[in-house]
Amino acid sequence: MHIVVVGGSFGGLTAAYDLRRLLRRRDHQVTVISKERRFIFIPSLPWVAMGSKTIADISFDLEAPLIAKGINFVEAAITGINPRTRKVLTDGTEYEYDILLLATGHRSANEAVPGLGPFDGPGHSLMSPAEAEEARDSWAAFLRDPGPIVIGCAPGASCLGPAYEFLFEAHHALQRRRIRHRVPITFVTPEPFLGHFGVGGFGKARQFFEGELEQRDIRYFNSAAISQITSESVELSDGKVFESRYSLVIPPLAGIPAVAGTDGLANPKGFIPVDAHYRHPDFPDIYAVGVAVALPPVEETTVPVNFPKTGHMTEQMAKIAAHNIASDINGSEQTTHELMVECIMDMGDKAAHIRADPARPPRNVSQMSVGKRWLWAKRFFANYYLWKIKRGATRSPKWVW
Ligand SMILES: Cc1cc2nc3c(=O)[nH]c(=O)nc-3n(C[C@H](O)[C@H](O)[C@H](O)COP(=O)(O)OP(=O)(O)OC[C@H]3O[C@@H](n4cnc5c(N)ncnc54)[C@H](O)[C@@H]3O)c2cc1C
Repeated sequence: MHIVVVGGSFGGLTAAYDLRRLLRRRDHQVTVISKERRFIFIPSLPWVAMGSKTIADISFDLEAPLIAKGINFVEAAITGINPRTRKVLTDGTEYEYDILLLATGHRSANEAVPGLGPFDGPGHSLMSPAEAEEARDSWAAFLRDPGPIVIGCAPGASCLGPAYEFLFEAHHALQRRRIRHRVPITFVTPEPFLGHFGVGGFGKARQFFEGELEQRDIRYFNSAAISQITSESVELSDGKVFESRYSLVIPPLAGIPAVAGTDGLANPKGFIPVDAHYRHPDFPDIYAVGVAVALPPVEETTVPVNFPKTGHMTEQMAKIAAHNIASDINGSEQTTHELMVECIMDMGDKAAHIRADPARPPRNVSQMSVGKRWLWAKRFFANYYLWKIKRGATRSPKWVW
């Protein structure tokens, strides 16, 4: 059998390595197709935007590690999928599959708000390596002539954590340069309350984040719908206008065009519906994991906030899907379990470790712990993750995400 995995990031790599371990080499081939030939540790992009890391520091070339594990690697952007003939299409070549696993991540839906950027408008972002590098260069220019800034998330955003990280890191960087007094900071979020994060909040996150922003003299607006970003301002749908010389706003996400454009594969936003086993409900030989899958929001909110599909959740999905693909082939039991969320948020001078199990409330575990030690843990984990995924290890210790 030929199992084709599209995507060489958290979902694609984890699944490919697990599949290679679970399936006999002489009977089954595993091929990873990825547009980007490097694995990039995306959670470190806020550090790239702040100038403390480069893309080279947080990435490695995929080809040699995959080949060493007996996995074929193709550097190519898929342009479409034909689920009926079981083919993945790229510009020059078609790849036949028996089972397909899609881990293709997202497209930033910048069209949702005029001015979302950076390449479509004056807003800055850090959802991709190129955007994080642009945010870094513009931030360096801003520091030479500082003024008011707005940081936040657009309506429908799901990846809210990086906006908080950039907010805290920006505050910390400005304080260290002793220019914080020249930079009024406004935080704008569609969340019904701070610390909601698209998972309905956890523990005392709301009180904690309100206190932390107030402590830092950061003005915040929740249930806020950004309606326009210009080079001098950020506007809300209720008429509020905030002056801003540097606006970093996280966009809502959508599925990639090759997936969104395949008839019957995706929902209107381009995300792929899956069952509890991460299998497509209509195409049983297609599985999907990570940001590419359609997962509903935890609740209806005044301004839409979507469910985050974190790297840690993506890993969990990929492990379940790989197990189920191997079970399909070997005729053994399928598996599934509820997703949990665990992450460490950089807050500039300290970090918060968050653990919510399951990710959707009500929960068995809702924990948050804050301190400088978590900042060291986050830095250690970023390097450790690169080291271990390069060697094909797909299990993470429990305390680190
Ligand atoms: C700034 C930022 C900070 C984050 N911080 C955290 C954090 O602290 N903790 C956490 O758990 N999560 C975090 N996340 C979320 C985490 O990065 C994602 O959950 C994770 O990257 C999802 O992995 P994925 O494999 O689904 O997709 P992605 O990482 O988006 O990868 C998609 C893959 O598909 C490939 N691809 C895309 N289009 C094509 C195509 N047409 N053809 C072929 N290949 C294609 C790409 O090259 C890439 O290899 C953060 C995200 C961002 C943006």
